[in-house]
Amino acid sequence: MTAQLIDGNALSRQLRAAVSERVQALKARGITPGLAVLLVGDNPASAVYVRNKVKACEDTGMHSVLQTWPASLSEAALLEQVAALNQDASVHGILVQLPLPPQIDTHKVIEAISAAKDVDGFHLASAGALMTGAPGFLPCTPHGCMKMLEAIGFDLHGKHAVVIGRSNIVGKPMALLLLQKNATVTICHSATPDLKAFTRNADVIVVAVGKRKLLRADMVKPGAVVLDVGMNRNEEGKLCGDVDFANVKEVAGWITPVPGGVGPMTISMLLVNTLEAAERQAR
Ligand code: NAD
Repeated sequence: MTAQLIDGNALSRQLRAAVSERVQALKARGITPGLAVLLVGDNPASAVYVRNKVKACEDTGMHSVLQTWPASLSEAALLEQVAALNQDASVHGILVQLPLPPQIDTHKVIEAISAAKDVDGFHLASAGALMTGAPGFLPCTPHGCMKMLEAIGFDLHGKHAVVIGRSNIVGKPMALLLLQKNATVTICHSATPDLKAFTRNADVIVVAVGKRKLLRADMVKPGAVVLDVGMNRNEEGKLCGDVDFANVKEVAGWITPVPGGVGPMTISMLLVNTLEAAERQAR
């Protein structure tokens, strides 16, 4: 059996076209949705992510502000910038690219972002809203994964979903979103002794670890949906995920590729959140 591909690029094109239309509607009312992106330091991967986010924003007609700061920036100086952007009416969403240099307390910076502009969905208010089912900004990567499941018409009700990874930005919110859709959810992590014992019984597997070929074909139930969040480099320096794609695709029913899977969806959901922030602030 060869799995069907869930094409994150194609789905993103549809989502971004819809975003563009809503951006035009807001512009007609004199409001241009705006995203501010703050990058501290010179992490090359972060620089690429930030460039892609800013470009995607501009492609949909939104306004974007990119601030780049040296790695030596103090926590107080970064907090000052965030405070200024909170007050800036032309900025509807604020994103501080992670990771931050060690002298800066990441939690403090995220909490300093106005909850109304928290388009990454990392603020405690957003996390609490997700936990309790209240409206709020959803973290972009898990939200993008849910959109992919929706796009293939996969009904999670009563299904067994396994999430591998328990980070605050991917694993934990992913598990909560799957739970909201009535899946029975298992979270596996670095201290899980026998991953295969869980994944073999899963109808959906979301892998968010950061280790190449972590998920092998013998760990997957035939026909399962496999969403690969991981971003790694192989020996040739090419982008790859956490899934042994060549072999798992022969067992799975649906699978996301890397690149062209979850990555573009993450950016698309950031655009959706920024647009929604602008729409809410306009109301
Ligand atoms: P993280 O380092 O914060 O978390 C990794 C998780 O993997 C941890 O919870 C840990 O318990 C678990 N883990 C580690 N080794 C394991 C093992 N052997 N078995 C099972 N679990 C194990 O990482 P993160 O920020 O959640 O990101 C995970 C991966 O997803 C990374 O490769 C990251 O680059 C990628 N990522 C991709 C996107 C995207 O848009 N595609 C977005 C965010 C993160």
